[in-house]
Amino acid sequence: SKIRIYALAKELGLDNNEMLELLDSMGVSYKSASSTLEEDMVETIKALVSEDRQTQNTGTQAVAAAKAAAQPAAEEAPGSDVPHRAPVVTIMGHVDHGKTSLLDYIRKTRVAAKEAGGITQHVGAFEAQTSKGKIVFIDTPGHEAFTSIRARGARVADIAIIVVAADDSIMPQTREAVAHAQAAKVPLIVAVNKIDLPSANPDKVKNDLMQLGLVPEEYGGQTITVELSAKTGQGVEELLDYISLVAEIEDLRADPKGEFKGVIIESKVDKQAGVLATILVQEGTLNVGDFVVVGETYGKIKAMTDSNGGRVKNAGPSTPVQVLGFSEAPVSGEIVSGAKNEHEARDIVARRKEEREAAAEATTRRKLSLEEVMGSLEQRREVNLILRADTQGSIEAIQGIFGRYTTEDVDVNVLLSGIGAPTEGDVLLASTAEATILCFSVTPSAAVLKVAEQKGVDVKSFRIIYEMIDEVERLMKGNVEPVF
Ligand code: GDP
Repeated sequence: SKIRIYALAKELGLDNNEMLELLDSMGVSYKSASSTLEEDMVETIKALVSEDRQTQNTGTQAVAAAKAAAQPAAEEAPGSDVPHRAPVVTIMGHVDHGKTSLLDYIRKTRVAAKEAGGITQHVGAFEAQTSKGKIVFIDTPGHEAFTSIRARGARVADIAIIVVAADDSIMPQTREAVAHAQAAKVPLIVAVNKIDLPSANPDKVKNDLMQLGLVPEEYGGQTITVELSAKTGQGVEELLDYISLVAEIEDLRADPKGEFKGVIIESKVDKQAGVLATILVQEGTLNVGDFVVVGETYGKIKAMTDSNGGRVKNAGPSTPVQVLGFSEAPVSGEIVSGAKNEHEARDIVARRKEEREAAAEATTRRKLSLEEVMGSLEQRREVNLILRADTQGSIEAIQGIFGRYTTEDVDVNVLLSGIGAPTEGDVLLASTAEATILCFSVTPSAAVLKVAEQKGVDVKSFRIIYEMIDEVERLMKGNVEPVF
């Protein structure tokens, strides 16, 4: 029968990478280790592996042999000698569904004892210890911002946990959270929470998930769901196991000896200490004494503490550290890079300022060149939209019309739709997915418009449906006039 790649790997005693290499060497295409294989293929693989074992080879050698047969010898799997790193996880979901409780439970049971005399401080992230290694949890509010850093195509979280209360099921922010994870292409695990409650109905949650295109594994789909209680702790262990499994499938690696790169998780100004910023190290190693650049500011790391409050001198990949050394508070979600010395740090900052000014000037003058217009016509284009309207009836009517507008060359995707004015969350999603926010008979707040401006997201309001459709047609043609 059909089987998922990782399950077959387990059955045959191979690790996931070996399995994927074997498939590569056989020329089998797959999306990820959670893709399913057809029955014929499963039989072929089993036969191949057992044949190989009969000739006294181990699984690893079977892979090597298959590879050697299929490829010129010199080719090594890229990055295979780069060490694994711990997964970085973000917890999202509707308000009151138990995000904080789940984080607190994990922190209470999985964080190593505090440093002598120290109080564990909230620094925006913490490291949980499990039998399968370390897992980093981002626990800062507004963490949706970190599911993707669009400017660099990078992302902070490797895995998103979507918490859904079993007594309440899918709610508007659940949809938002799922849309965020999907836009950032972050794999997700659904934590069906509060199963200790008599009114809990986990089966309803699993059914409702299908409305979002998430088909639970037990219904033959690809979505991992875990039933748990953040109150009693039931099922939390299983959730941690699944996180490790997904991390293994994702094959997360980073070189501690490589060039340093990190991201700002949180920053605050302390009356005594000054600016305290939490950096998640993503690649390379950050050391006390290093110069770092964030946006258009730089700093020298004077001191670092790990998420337990202990002083450290250096921090490798997937380690959150709170650092002292910036003169201004850096913005969360910004990329941090290293500089050899103060001189270089200053140069980088100066260059960025110049580039930003030049770019701002260029956009005000910009006209599309013929080549650009031709180029954009050649490939299939996507128009991503977030739709906000006054009633469910309007939403359905508008979506019905948009559906007809998908043509051979252009896909019109409504990533998210909802009743009421757009939220800051919508703007973040739009920025990640390069979407336009369309409002019908609802008025965006000044605060939302401000964030949209900062993120370069277009928010357009309409009272007449045909004007909205005209706008969509303009977006489809790709020649939108810039709005100032
Ligand atoms: P958040 O808004 O998603 O962070 O949700 P909270 O963690 O603040 O939880 C909201 C409420 O649900 C609180 O009163 C929690 O005590 C309660 N709660 C959270 N998880 C569970 C659970 O597993 N079982 C029960 N019975 N209550 C829970």
